[in-house]
Amino acid sequence: MELIAKRVNGTQDITPSQSWKWQLIESIASETAEAYGFKQVRIPTFEKTDLFVRSVGDTTDIVQKEMFTVTGKESSFTLRPEGTAGTIRCMIENGMLNEALPQKVYYMLSCFRHERVQAGRLWEFHQFGVEMAGSSSPVADAEVISLAKTLVSRFGLKDVSLNINSIGCPECRAKYYEALRKYFEPHKDKLCGTCLTRFEKNPMRIIDCKSDICQEIAKDAPVILDYLCDECKDHFEQLKSLLEAMDIEYTINPKIVRGLDYYTKTVFELIAGKGDKKGTICGGGRYDGMIEQMGGKPTPALGFGMGLERILMNMEEQGCDFGEPATCDIYIAPMGDAASVKAASLVKTLRDDGYWAETDLMNRVLGKQMKYADKIGSKYVIVLGDNELESGKAKLKNMKTGQQLEIMLDEDFAETFGNILIGDMMEETLQ
Ligand code: ATP
Ligand code: MG
Repeated sequence: MELIAKRVNGTQDITPSQSWKWQLIESIASETAEAYGFKQVRIPTFEKTDLFVRSVGDTTDIVQKEMFTVTGKESSFTLRPEGTAGTIRCMIENGMLNEALPQKVYYMLSCFRHERVQAGRLWEFHQFGVEMAGSSSPVADAEVISLAKTLVSRFGLKDVSLNINSIGCPECRAKYYEALRKYFEPHKDKLCGTCLTRFEKNPMRIIDCKSDICQEIAKDAPVILDYLCDECKDHFEQLKSLLEAMDIEYTINPKIVRGLDYYTKTVFELIAGKGDKKGTICGGGRYDGMIEQMGGKPTPALGFGMGLERILMNMEEQGCDFGEPATCDIYIAPMGDAASVKAASLVKTLRDDGYWAETDLMNRVLGKQMKYADKIGSKYVIVLGDNELESGKAKLKNMKTGQQLEIMLDEDFAETFGNILIGDMMEETLQ
């Protein structure tokens, strides 16, 4: 029979052998963001298509090629291709922008993009991201960049470079678009079909095109930094001084225009790896016009999105330290029905106190139970037989040292066990 239990190309399963690593990076990410004053938001998986078309931009790859869209009777819905649009919509809709500013939120969510599947490029992937609304100060840009950099270093990643650029405001961009059209005009017939439409609507997008021919043509295109107005120039200069004061190394890359339309002024990317293996793990920037464009009151904002699959991939490649997955604290091996009942009640008490406790669920003989206890890395084992039930005490065996201690099976059992566990752990760290 054909196997129907097969996942869709471009999606992935995260099984327990990997999920503990995800939990580790997720907890590092949320703890770090919270230390920077960001609070979690949870938003729907899909939104009205229009929200993405209007905020991400109708000349972007995301909107033109990558969205998963379902057209219903009255409306068209799209699985979120990124987290910013939904998060900003949520902030506006819930009146968050009327509260004390800046509003700082973070999210951890899956995103959906229909693109060519390859390593680090999936149809469903995960992003950790932050958004801050209310501040137009370059100090906010520096704070957001600093958070992204701190995260990456807490993950243990090395060789991560920060590239920054400013793509100005609509005023600077009008002049820049003119210069770009002038530059691309003689090459128009060689541009890809998508870029041909971009030529009119948003020629800056051509610089971001993935086609080799377009990239070659765009190689010597004018750079936006030469077209910044005084205010945008000043903002960029201040950001650079702030980064220097914070000891954050950066490279100015005038080619970064980012894949989304909503950016203004600062844009940045974190690139991990060297040579061929280089890849963007985080992209972000300022989008001062977006909230107003969505119908909210004009509020400057900025943020970043970090691709968690790519973070994990780079951590694996670089041999970063994930620590060890948790192992079982104690396995209680019963022999016989009465012992099974006692074991079930003992593991319940242990679990109530927060320990990972297990007992036999498979009707195994003692030898097989011990093998299983070993497989789940149980730190301690207790064997419960008739003698133990009668005397109300048992031998607690430390599986690492082989040491055995007598333990009372009374109401203080879980507490006594906890003290022994802590004592042994302290001894182990002292050695
Ligand atoms: P790229 O140039 O690699 O397509 P992008 O500019 O489309 O990236 P963003 O929209 O900035 O990416 O998304 C932020 C981060 O999300 C990226 O830096 C990357 O780490 C991750 N990411 C983007 N698309 C995918 C995908 N299809 N699969 C896995 N991760 C992705
Ligand atoms: Mg992309």
